[in-house]
Amino acid sequence: GDVLKKRKIAVLGSRSVGKSSLVIQFIENHFVESYYPTIENTFTKSINYNGVEYDCDIIDTAGQDEYTILNQKHAIGIHGYVLVYSVTSRKSFEMIQIVYDKIINFCGINSIPCVIVGSKTDLQPRQVAPDEGKELAQLNHAAWVETSAKTNTNVAKVFQLCLGEIEKRSPNSKAE
Ligand code: GDP
Repeated sequence: GDVLKKRKIAVLGSRSVGKSSLVIQFIENHFVESYYPTIENTFTKSINYNGVEYDCDIIDTAGQDEYTILNQKHAIGIHGYVLVYSVTSRKSFEMIQIVYDKIINFCGINSIPCVIVGSKTDLQPRQVAPDEGKELAQLNHAAWVETSAKTNTNVAKVFQLCLGEIEKRSPNSKAE
């Protein structure tokens, strides 16, 4: 039989953009209206991508800002990143590039397997247009998608895109 393929995905972004809600909707299929601010949680889920089962660890982090020093745990041994902003928060959008740059500087490489996620599309007023998200993703060679954890829109897609970004950079990757 096939060797189990293990992948680690870290979910980063400003506080309260909906990182936990996104992960919990994906793992447990429900929306939590209010959730305690996360310290850090790791969830495990088997994800089928292109007919292959990946045993994924999804690390839901506490949230980052311009003053946060990137935790080594969020860089070492991570295969892919989900960087979340809220479409209702311009500041959270601006934080994406800052967090992205912290990761690549820490890792000493110029790009990482990454999905940039615009969350809370069910909410108004919007402060970030879809085109701005797309443009930021193109600039950083990342995938991009908009989601709502509340209405369960594009939630599973985030993790499909992330595995896609991971696998396209390591086409001959073996299970580790
Ligand atoms: P985190 O700090 O990034 O993990 O954010 P949370 O997941 O704790 O979410 C922060 C707040 O935003 C909570 O009150 C959530 O219920 C709310 N929230 C998260 N995602 C959505 C969404 O897609 N739509 C709406 N309307 N609210 C959301």
